[in-house]
Amino acid sequence: MPVEERVSITSEKSGLTEAETDLLRSGGGLSLEEANRMIENVVGTIAYPLGIAANFRINGRDRLIPMAIEEPSVVAAASNMARLMRGGEGVKVTSTDPVMIGQIQVLDIPNIDKAKKNIAEAKDKLLDLANQQDPVLVRFGGGARDIQQRTIQTEAGEMLILHLLVDCRDAMGANAVNTMCETLAPVVNELTGGRVLLRIISNLADHRLVRAECVVKKEDLGGEKVVDDVVSAWAFADADPYRAATHNKGIMNGVIAVALAVAQDHRALEAGAHAYAARSGHYSALSRWSKNENGDLVGVLEMPMAVGIIGGATRTHPIARLALKVMGISKAAELAETMAAVGLAQNLGALRALVKEGIQQGHMRLHARNLVVMAGAEGDLIGRAVKALVESGEIRFDKAQEIVKRLEG
Ligand code: NAD
Repeated sequence: MPVEERVSITSEKSGLTEAETDLLRSGGGLSLEEANRMIENVVGTIAYPLGIAANFRINGRDRLIPMAIEEPSVVAAASNMARLMRGGEGVKVTSTDPVMIGQIQVLDIPNIDKAKKNIAEAKDKLLDLANQQDPVLVRFGGGARDIQQRTIQTEAGEMLILHLLVDCRDAMGANAVNTMCETLAPVVNELTGGRVLLRIISNLADHRLVRAECVVKKEDLGGEKVVDDVVSAWAFADADPYRAATHNKGIMNGVIAVALAVAQDHRALEAGAHAYAARSGHYSALSRWSKNENGDLVGVLEMPMAVGIIGGATRTHPIARLALKVMGISKAAELAETMAAVGLAQNLGALRALVKEGIQQGHMRLHARNLVVMAGAEGDLIGRAVKALVESGEIRFDKAQEIVKRLEG
């Protein structure tokens, strides 16, 4: 479809207003004034392509998925795999309560056992104090839930680490949790006789998990051999960190593209995902692929997903609000679950391509387009040069330069 037709269909299906539809056409949707309110020392903005992944059926509901990404093939692969997943009734998703961990590091404690006992006895008082910092969060059903204690041995000696567990509802929660931890610090000093140093959220959000599952019929995937090969490809990733890093990168292609479209803290998501992948002490695959009794492929992805639809840039970036509307999302949990579904589809896209034709075939036409643009092609010359480059069978920069020069002349 031409871009304008995609814009109209997205607008129509998502019930976008005229102004929102114009925002899609605006080439980035963020004014300099808006950008200047978001970070420091602003001199401009940078736009990314925003694509729509189609075919997603998540918990029985069809959703259009906005994805912001600079890498070719990702949106196409997600849409293609979502189509295959529909044969097994789409992706099923669930999530835990949105509980984040705030860490309080306590040093120089004279008697650790006594300190731990004092903290345990004062738990309710500490939770109350934390909740007083955020009555809005409490009103929405969230708030501090529990305090856990860990002693760890470090290069700098033994430390007591408190984990403040906070249900963040529709917020990502970093500001909320950090504020609570900072407030508790003086009381923790008193209760432990020690000295609180760090008070900060943990991005290993292993209480805030999402799970996405799908079944792909063997005939939709290209037969039982492809199913077996995908399982073998997954087993490689699960056993080998060198492969697991790339396997998980493929998952994050989907997760982060949606995260960018809705202006999430994607560094927090990356940090959480990779730390979770290494939680056993051995960095491995975030997903698991197996074959069921019918010979069909079963995929499961479980990972932390600390996202919010309140706070951060999600409310200030106009495209982020629009992207949530396109997905039809009104809860942070729904966003987290949708992102896991996209991550799972993306993972399958890469595995399927790798075990079948190899990853380059799908990439090459798009890569050819990048090469001819790099070689200076503009306007309708781009299409002609891509065609010639693909037909040459040698998709390389020197060849692209040669073709562009010839066609220009
Ligand atoms: P925030 O403080 O802007 O918004 C959260 C607040 O919104 C809550 O505390 C609550 O008072 C209010 N709220 C209103 N309605 C709510 C609802 N339905 N559910 C929950 N809360 C509701 O944002 P935040 O989510 O606390 O923090 C996110 C920001 O923190 C991001 O910009 C992130 O980049 C940044 N950050 C991240 C880290 C990290 O990940 N390590 C560290 C520091 C800051």
